[in-house]
Amino acid sequence: MRVPLLDLRGQLAPIREEILAEITRVMDSSMYILGPDVVKFEENVAAYCHARRGIGVSSGTDALLCALMGLGVGPGDKVLTSSYSFFATMGSILRLGATPVFADIERDSFNIDAAEIRAILSDKDPAIKAIIPVHLYGQCAAMDEIMAVAREFGVPVVEDAAQAIGACFPVQDDGAIRWQRAGSFGAAGCFSFFPSKNLGGMGDGGMITVQDAAFADELDVIRGHGGKPKYYHAVVGGNFRLDAIQAAILDVKLRYLPDWHQGRRHNARIYHSLFEQAGLIEKGLVQLPKAVYYELADDPVRGVDYHIYNQFVIRARERDALRDYLLRHDIGVEIYYPVPLHRQECLLKTGWQGPALPETDKAAAETLALPIFPELSRQMLECVVEGIAAFYRENGMLS
Ligand SMILES: *Cc1c(COP(=O)(O)O)cnc(C)c1O
Repeated sequence: MRVPLLDLRGQLAPIREEILAEITRVMDSSMYILGPDVVKFEENVAAYCHARRGIGVSSGTDALLCALMGLGVGPGDKVLTSSYSFFATMGSILRLGATPVFADIERDSFNIDAAEIRAILSDKDPAIKAIIPVHLYGQCAAMDEIMAVAREFGVPVVEDAAQAIGACFPVQDDGAIRWQRAGSFGAAGCFSFFPSKNLGGMGDGGMITVQDAAFADELDVIRGHGGKPKYYHAVVGGNFRLDAIQAAILDVKLRYLPDWHQGRRHNARIYHSLFEQAGLIEKGLVQLPKAVYYELADDPVRGVDYHIYNQFVIRARERDALRDYLLRHDIGVEIYYPVPLHRQECLLKTGWQGPALPETDKAAAETLALPIFPELSRQMLECVVEGIAAFYRENGMLS
C-alpha cells in the first residue's frame, strides 16, 4: 500500500463546492487584494487565536519579516531564536541585516529551551532586539517562562506559529488552567497558510496576530510599502499583502480546522498503540513525539488543542537507512530538518560563530516525520508502523 506523507485530495472533496462558490464570488467581485474578504478572515483568525487583531500577509515568511520590521530590527541587531526550525525563521532575521543568536532546544518538545533564553539574556547584550520562539510541529513552546523572562529583560517576543495555528498552551491562572492559543502571547504571532500547514491555502498566504492596536496599525502600513497615506512614505515597507481569493478559501477551511486537528490527534493516538504493540518502543528503536501538555488536557482527542500535530516526528535508530527503506516501500517520510540553522552555509560564510547546540544537532540527526494528515485510514497507519518494524527485523534489531 502506498502511503503519502501528505495528500490534500481527501480534505478537498467534501468542501469542494463550497470553495468553488467562494472563488467564483471573489472573481466576480473584482476585488482581488486585501478588501472585505481579507478583513473578515483577519477578524475570524484573530478571534480563533485569542488575539486582538489579525493582519493578513503574503506568507508566513513575510509575516516574520514584517513583524521584525515593525519592531525596528535592522543591521547590527541580534535576534534570539531556535536553530531547529524551517529556514524562514532565520532568513527573516538575516534579510534585515541582523544576526541570529541561538538557544538550544528541549529534548522532549523540540522547542526552544526557556532556561537557555534566560542564560543568554542574563548577559544583557543590548543588541538583542527580539526573541522568536518557534512552536515546532504544532506544539507551543513554554510560553509562560518565555514571556516572563522576555518581560524581565524588556525584549519583545515574535512567535513563529507557522506550524501551530490553534495550538494551546496551558496558562496557570490562580490555580486553574486556561488554555491560550499560539500567537496570542507575544507582540506578534506569525502564521503560514502554505498548503501543507494545518490551515493551508491554495497558494501562499500568512497572518500576523497582534495584541496592541497601535502596533497592528504600524504593521498594516508596512504591509503596503509603508505608505501612509498612500504614496507618502515615512517608512520603508514591502508588498506583503494577502489576496482576497486566498482569504475566502481559507475562511471556509477555518470552520473545519478543529475537526482536522482532532483527526490528527486521533491518528497520533493510533500510532502510539501500534508502535507499542510492535515492540518498537520497548526495544528503544523508536521514540514517539511527546505531547508535553497532554497530562493537563481532559480528552486526548476531542479535548483542547494541546498539540495539533502539523508533523508527527519520531526519533529513530539508524534514521537515514530507515528513511531510505520506507521511501523505497512507498511510505512518505521526511526529515525536518536535516541541517540546523546554525550549520547553514549562508550563515557560516558571514563568519558567524556561536556556542554548540547539542540537542539541536541530535534532533537533526535522529528525527523522521511520518504521515499524520487527518484523512489517513487505519490501514495506512498500520502500513507505516509495519514498514518500520520490517526495517528493524530485516536488520536483526527486532525479532
Ligand atoms: C512554513 C514555515 C514558515 C514559513 O511560512 P511560508 O508561508 O512558507 O513562508 C516559517 N516558519 C516555520 C516554522 C514554518 O514551518
